Amino acid sequence: MFEIGTPEHSVVTTCAYCGVGCTFKAEMRGDELVRMVPYKDGKANRGHSCVKGRFAYGYATHKDRILKPMIRSSIHEPWKEVSYEEAIAYAASEFKRIQEKYGKRSVGGITSSRCTNEETYLVQKLIRGGFGNNNVDTCARVCHSPTGYGLSQTYGTSAGTQDFDSVEASDVVLIIGANPTDGHPVFGSRLKKRLRAGAKLIVVDPRRTDIVRSPHIEASFHLPLKPGTNVAIVTALAHVIVTEGLVNEAFVRERCDWDEFQEWAAFVADERHSPEAVEKYTGVDPALVRGAARLYATGGNGAIYYGLGVTEHSQGSTTVMAIANLAMATGNVGRNGVGVNPLRGQNNVQGSCDMGSFPHELPGYRHISDDATRATFEALWGVPLDDEPGLRIPNMFDAAVDGTFKGLYVQGEDILQSDPDTKHVSAGLAGLECLIVQDLFLNETANYAHVFLPGCSFLEKDGTFTNAERRIQRIRKVMAPKNGYADWEVTQLLANALGFPMTYTHPSQIMDEIAALTPTFAGVNYAKLDEMGSVQWPCNDKAPEGTPIMHIGGFVRGKGKFILTEYVPTDERTGPRFPLLLTTGRILSQYNVGAQTRRTANSVWHAEDVLEIHAHDAENRGIRDGDFVKLDSRAGSTSLRAVISDRVAPGVVYTTFHHPVTQANVVTTDYSDWATNCPEYKVTAVQVSPSNGP
Ligand code: SF4
Repeated sequence: MFEIGTPEHSVVTTCAYCGVGCTFKAEMRGDELVRMVPYKDGKANRGHSCVKGRFAYGYATHKDRILKPMIRSSIHEPWKEVSYEEAIAYAASEFKRIQEKYGKRSVGGITSSRCTNEETYLVQKLIRGGFGNNNVDTCARVCHSPTGYGLSQTYGTSAGTQDFDSVEASDVVLIIGANPTDGHPVFGSRLKKRLRAGAKLIVVDPRRTDIVRSPHIEASFHLPLKPGTNVAIVTALAHVIVTEGLVNEAFVRERCDWDEFQEWAAFVADERHSPEAVEKYTGVDPALVRGAARLYATGGNGAIYYGLGVTEHSQGSTTVMAIANLAMATGNVGRNGVGVNPLRGQNNVQGSCDMGSFPHELPGYRHISDDATRATFEALWGVPLDDEPGLRIPNMFDAAVDGTFKGLYVQGEDILQSDPDTKHVSAGLAGLECLIVQDLFLNETANYAHVFLPGCSFLEKDGTFTNAERRIQRIRKVMAPKNGYADWEVTQLLANALGFPMTYTHPSQIMDEIAALTPTFAGVNYAKLDEMGSVQWPCNDKAPEGTPIMHIGGFVRGKGKFILTEYVPTDERTGPRFPLLLTTGRILSQYNVGAQTRRTANSVWHAEDVLEIHAHDAENRGIRDGDFVKLDSRAGSTSLRAVISDRVAPGVVYTTFHHPVTQANVVTTDYSDWATNCPEYKVTAVQVSPSNGP
């Protein structure tokens, strides 16, 4: 006899929340998950975990799970439960009808950064091979697409440069627009350990995040810039480095294009980029900027970590390139302890990008217009491929509103809640003739769906995730799929119904196909992952055991490329009607729109989103701590409780975005990054006024 909660066996798998990618032992009793125990041999977490990975798994067996497929011919009709065969046949016939009537490019799909590499690969394969177009995009569009663009332009590859271990050799850590304590807790703890051991800290953030001042840690410099001025502040740091003779000339001469460097150095040296000149935009004391620049350039190994506070701006890609310039100018790339490190948000956002989820790129970041690459895929897939890049997510909504885009397959993302400018998204969804939603729960997007295909959780399937340090790790089936099928199997059913045959019997076969088609994954297979525990791409003949640190001895693109980064103010302006700037972020216990964490033991923490407002702004509006307030922007309005806080400066307010009641994205605008269309979530002009409640 076992006592309640005594495990009988365990399965090693990977957390499905954030980009740290902690490994756990799922301890089981029969088909019941008893507890998740952080795995001491996990390369990303070394036996540590946070409250999400440890406790927030109850959603997998929550009563709200939808386990039967459903269809309806109109969103005004009730759902009808059907078999998978019927649902898939209906979806396929609708997509065929739409393409016959409106053309091949009238349908598309969105992959999920929550799903496995194999599932993501399969969805983009279905769209390219089965739909016959490149209308595939990923939820990474709305978070780290500028990282992909910025780092590939400057260094030649769309990923962070270091492994997590690298931080242990850092002397100076520069954090820009990231809150690792809440967003990437296990890495955040490791970072704090290094800071407590003596590394210096610089934080660039409009908000005084936890890491700026926490037990035994005090940032040497906190630059509390006005939201939307990242490019101005990073270029001002570069100005100080260049004009005060702090450039690592030997590194630049050896590793970068010298002519481009000289052009860049002359550009940043211009007085208009000085800390004193940009203070009028950034609001940051020039002495702090000068001090931070000197410390980063001269303090030893300098490592940069950044998050969505960099990317989710109209100049997100420009800021990534400005950061890359800074690291090259100081020689802080290509060895242990340094580098440019995007803290990826979702568990598999790196993987979803690697797997060809962008409308212009096949797996491995190869452009769809490249004839030789396309030919390789065509030969293996047995179909011709469209050589025109497809629609990005925001363009899909625009085209749906215009009436030229009519069918959408969304796997594992609640786009209505998570994408900006909710009104526009709902107008786009309402214009679709067939929306297929594949998810665990009947989410907000499903209100507009015609076909609902139950998804399954990470506990119910095999596959791989790739974390923020390019580490490919196995997830292993812990229990049978409650709905009967893993997500990749459902995609395969749809492909077959559309006449694009797929015959995989296990995700390892999908990984073998990925490896055969993707040079950076050429050495990846399940046997190696089981033997090594994980491997970091590139993994191929040149690096059979993977690549913990990139750009050692030379950049992937050859010479590192300096790019001029002119600050262009966002079009989102404050004014008499909307005098405050709203910025957003995460909290430790909850995850994104909360669909999972709110259905777990973690729901006891952070039961609502609140608005942090400075005492000065609160007093001017007659708002007391704990009052409900109305939050208005040009895009929409919502209400939530106010908390008076000195973490934000006067003129700035801040909220999290985890609760559907608040729906923070009702107020965010449709401005986006110039290069990638990543939405400008982090800057919204708002007004805050007293309210009676939600
Ligand atoms: Fe999961 Fe991230 Fe927490 Fe690790 S730090 S347990 S990966 S949510």
